[in-house]
Amino acid sequence: MLKLEKVSVHFGNEAALSEITLEFLSKKTTVLIGPSGCGKSTILRLLAGLQQLESGSIYFEESPLSPDNITALRHRMGYVIQEGGLFPHLTVKDNVGLMPVYLDWPPEKVNERLNELAELVHISTNLLERYPDELSGGQRQRVSIMRALMLNPDLLLLDEPLGALDPMIRFELQQDLKDIFDRLDKTVIMVTHDIAEAAYFADQIVLLRSGKLIQQGTLTELASSPIEPFVTNFIHAQREPLANLERMLS
Ligand code: ADP
Ligand code: MG
Repeated sequence: MLKLEKVSVHFGNEAALSEITLEFLSKKTTVLIGPSGCGKSTILRLLAGLQQLESGSIYFEESPLSPDNITALRHRMGYVIQEGGLFPHLTVKDNVGLMPVYLDWPPEKVNERLNELAELVHISTNLLERYPDELSGGQRQRVSIMRALMLNPDLLLLDEPLGALDPMIRFELQQDLKDIFDRLDKTVIMVTHDIAEAAYFADQIVLLRSGKLIQQGTLTELASSPIEPFVTNFIHAQREPLANLERMLS
């Protein structure tokens, strides 16, 4: 359904992405992971048409993404940016209803979809009239996910959707989000910098470093057949603090 072929992007002389070739599995979850600045968000921005392609191609169901088809394709994608990106001056209802209203959905259809999604993401309908700053961080992310799902997209792009949440809320939302992915059966591309979160969500993990694709596979594959020492170091750098904690508790 979706693939990148030799995609490169530079900012000045710096390569943000170098010849990335990558196929995303249809109706599965791919997690992009790697150190800060490795190009994860740039990949999502390219797919959403917010970043211009410099060389290479992106195929969405066999058609190359281009300025001519990006708007139509964009309506088939839901995108949750880092920190959620809700408009502070709009209520939850208006944030979530923005695109359907723009597309002239009748109000009953908008309301029906709002209620359906509120139930799916566990947002009480009495929160729909509130403004984003009247919600907790977890509730705001649930609303961002509602907004991304509003047009029932085929593809969901999520940029560190749980990154800013404290651990307990994050754990709760991880479980709900996994349940949502399993129920909706969509192609999901999610960015995280947390290897445990990647393993929890991913059918496929894609590990990047400095704009290059280093290795892709399951966590077990990455751990058991690392293509270079960086893969092992990356996994262990993240697992070490947990191992220390377990030692302190035992
Ligand atoms: P990640 O999401 O993995 O942390 P990004 O994709 O945001 O990384 O960024 C990749 C690289 O491109 C980084 O070095 C970043 O500084 C650079 N970069 C991203 N966006 C811009 C921009 N608009 N202008 C200049 N440099 C950018
Ligand atoms: Mg990022």
